[in-house]
Amino acid sequence: MHALLFALVLSAEADAAPIPDAAPLIDAAPLIDATPLIEATPLTDATPPANFLPGFAIARVRTHQPVVALTFDACATLKQNNGFDREVFDILKREQIAITVFATGRWIETHPAEAKELAAEAWIEFGNHSYSHARMTRIPRRKAREQIARTETIIAGLGRRSVAFRPPAGAWNRSVVRLAAKWHLPTVEWDVISGDAGGHIGAQKIVATVLSAAKAGSIIIFHINGRAPHTKEALPDIIRGLREKGLAFVTVPDLLHEPDAQPISARPAPFGYRPLRDRKRGPQEPKGIVDEHSSG
Ligand SMILES: [Zn+2]
Repeated sequence: MHALLFALVLSAEADAAPIPDAAPLIDAAPLIDATPLIEATPLTDATPPANFLPGFAIARVRTHQPVVALTFDACATLKQNNGFDREVFDILKREQIAITVFATGRWIETHPAEAKELAAEAWIEFGNHSYSHARMTRIPRRKAREQIARTETIIAGLGRRSVAFRPPAGAWNRSVVRLAAKWHLPTVEWDVISGDAGGHIGAQKIVATVLSAAKAGSIIIFHINGRAPHTKEALPDIIRGLREKGLAFVTVPDLLHEPDAQPISARPAPFGYRPLRDRKRGPQEPKGIVDEHSSG
């Protein structure tokens, strides 16, 4: 009798044990300590005014200024370091084109020399792309906070401060936007998808896509993490073509700060823009993009 009671108590205790997070990070391995890569320098930038922190993810801005923002994602997860496209960097450096690099904390940790090199360039701004490329809408708030905070610390270790948050896979909702706003970061997506990631689309198609879709106020997404083999071939024609259209290049914060800039919302994408396969629920509704890294 006593033995039975004891067993019941034990099983009740087991039930009360903390339940592991149902929606872990993309990789479930524990986060490792972030060691600053170089001595952090004091940050003096004023926080952006509240009107640049709308309650939605920004796809582009409406503006009469003939400017676009080229953005390059440097995605890495705990299991996949990816790489660095030096030729893309060299083209941009040669042309001195203002860009914004959305890096995951993991990418910076696994590419310390390259990250330092990017941080040394005044024409590059850094964006926070989470720590391990987690789908922000699918993880508990505490973990979502950690994803942003950890990468902020890592970017500060480069002597920089991030200018925006870009949720991996474009998965956003109001709570993700509100969370990023706690760091004074607007949530920034894109309106022009180059389609460079994965290498399925050739350079000519990438050029044609970008040149036909880009307009004043556009935010264009590329990748610089070794997952987009044709970007370096497409970039010179894209730069030339956009210039021929009279468009100049600005960073994301400069775009958002254009005097007449009105941010336009990205379409809601609580699961992100690529299908998420869930064993219980089956495929989630595809939002247009199907390749693993073609967006965000
Ligand atoms: Zn990404």
